[in-house]
Amino acid sequence: RVAYVNGRYLPHAEAGVHVEDRGLQFADGVYEVIAIEGGRPIDLGGHMTRLERSLRELRMTMPMPPRAMRLVMREVVRRNAVRIGILYLQVTRGTYRRDHPFPPATVAPTLVMTARSGVRPTSAMVENGIGVVTVPDQRWARRDIKSVSLLPNVMAKQQAKDAGAYEAWQVDRDGFVTEGTSTNAWIVTKDGTLVTRPLNHDILAGITRDSVLTLAAQAGLTVEQRPFTVEEAKAAREAFISSTTAAALPVVRIDDASIANGAPGSITRQLWDLYEAHIARAGAE
Ligand code: PLP
Repeated sequence: RVAYVNGRYLPHAEAGVHVEDRGLQFADGVYEVIAIEGGRPIDLGGHMTRLERSLRELRMTMPMPPRAMRLVMREVVRRNAVRIGILYLQVTRGTYRRDHPFPPATVAPTLVMTARSGVRPTSAMVENGIGVVTVPDQRWARRDIKSVSLLPNVMAKQQAKDAGAYEAWQVDRDGFVTEGTSTNAWIVTKDGTLVTRPLNHDILAGITRDSVLTLAAQAGLTVEQRPFTVEEAKAAREAFISSTTAAALPVVRIDDASIANGAPGSITRQLWDLYEAHIARAGAE
């Protein structure tokens, strides 16, 4: 395997950044995870736009022009011979003597990319659905920035794993679900309406969330973008999570409550199929 680090393609086992990189010292950086299908990145435009926005919000700049970055991405995928998998990309504020304020503008950002095969939900997860646990949302107030500062997400995901669940749904102070640790949260109401939290600083603008919204609209499904509570979710007809790696994965249990009859719902199944067709189409383009 090969990793890209600041202009060089290095053997994965030897690839690293400096001990004083601000990503390591302060989690002062942002990232993207992009699905690869047929050796091609899926929804690349959306990921690039979100990356530029995350950087801008943190007063950072793109480490290279977007077109050059796309070439490096393709090269990393090619050198790792990934057909179906993920590309990981991270930009930090660079390496400099440890001190909280930004380093001088002459300090170059660090750009790292890796790619690997696999990383798709197992067929058992798709067929049987997954469980989620609910946890208090302990993250900062700018969850719309895809920052590498993921400690609360890591703690919550481990809590899910310890409980035998796949994901943790983080809950705000008013009892409303914000999102998963690396996924957006959805429910389907009794009358078949899709519900997901609207975009603001509370959640990450998932690229898959956006694709699901488009696919749902094309399929004539009704969507409401509004917050929902844990209680509403437990009483819902269906629930699911969306992300680059999870696609649209059915949720059949929230804490100790089964959703409906405990089997994946038909609307989630429909969205899963539509999303699979979307990535198959994009991968073949
Ligand atoms: N929410 C959070 C907190 C995430 O970290 C992610 C992805 O990593 C998502 C949602 C889903 O985003 P996407 O669909 O772009 O993968």
